[in-house]
Amino acid sequence: MNESELSSLDREANSQVERQVHRPHPLSAIRSIKTKWSIVILAAVGVTALMSQIGVQLGWPIWVRPIVAGALALLAVQFLAHGTTYPLRRMAEASKAMARGDYSRQITTSSRDEVGDLADAFNQMSSELAEADRLQKEFIANASHELRTPVAALQSTLENLVDGVGRADRETLERMLAQSEHLGRLVTQLLDLSRLEAGSDRLAQNQIDLGDLLNEVTTELQLSHPLAIMEVKAPMGLRVEGDDLRLRRVFTNIVGNALRFSPYGSPVTVVASRHEGSVRVAVHDLGPGIPVDERQRVFERFWQADGSAPTGGGGAGLGLAISKRIIDQHLGEIQIRDNQPNGACLVVTLPGT
Ligand code: ADP
Repeated sequence: MNESELSSLDREANSQVERQVHRPHPLSAIRSIKTKWSIVILAAVGVTALMSQIGVQLGWPIWVRPIVAGALALLAVQFLAHGTTYPLRRMAEASKAMARGDYSRQITTSSRDEVGDLADAFNQMSSELAEADRLQKEFIANASHELRTPVAALQSTLENLVDGVGRADRETLERMLAQSEHLGRLVTQLLDLSRLEAGSDRLAQNQIDLGDLLNEVTTELQLSHPLAIMEVKAPMGLRVEGDDLRLRRVFTNIVGNALRFSPYGSPVTVVASRHEGSVRVAVHDLGPGIPVDERQRVFERFWQADGSAPTGGGGAGLGLAISKRIIDQHLGEIQIRDNQPNGACLVVTLPGT
């Protein structure tokens, strides 16, 4: 029997046990463990006293009476305490299953007391862990897929060169360089994302002039997009406190996307403005725009719109996921709006003056 068959049998057994446990218990409506145990102790004392009395009336020998009374009191305690301890035992078993990577177990109990609350919290924790586990597996699968593509391309070109099928001319070498650059970018993005998600890097606290930063970002992008038309409009002295390098990264990504998705020769406009306690940067382009139902998903890792065809080569769908985490770290917000009459408008709001 293989591992998955075993675990499905395990789950079936688990759900059968859950059904048994779900049967309401006489004390399940009581909301406090203290009251429950008081009732259990009183019941035990009551049963002992009653059995001793019955023993006297029935003329049982003196040594039989405490044995019968004790045995019946024990049975009563077993029955009454079962509903309280059973969920605890199930939780212990489920925790062990979790340690083996099985997050499917849920504790079903009719108990309304603190143990019932603990079971609810346990169920929520196990659902959240199951979701985190699913996301992590999905992330690894996506990352491996994205890394495999440039590695396979590089490998096949190198194989051709080694076999003498291809020639190491300038064009081939440039293609290989582009593939290795793409690979390098991908690895850097994956590392950045995992650091941001782990929260292991401290945020630098620089005093930033946002207008200057936006001008520097566009000037740098102009070097790699010499024909692009970009315009920055920002009032003097827009101040933000934060991590200069990371914010630069966010705006490079957003303006870079706007350039990549813009039709050839159409302008990208970056407009910064000051509001009550915050500053806002809107990046407008005249590309295809982002449909309303996809506007949250673009911030997910590896997400790319179906059929989105950037004019300047595609990324891996990590740029906006990284940007959102950086803006969240700065207690800001990043949103997507319509651009008029067409195109996309990404708006970043940050605390600032
Ligand atoms: P990528 O590097 O693949 O562009 P991003 O995370 O930066 O990854 O963007 C995710 C997706 O969001 C893109 O693949 C694209 O579908 C969509 N997108 C981002 N910016 C724009 C834009 N300005 N216009 C249209 N679509 C965009």
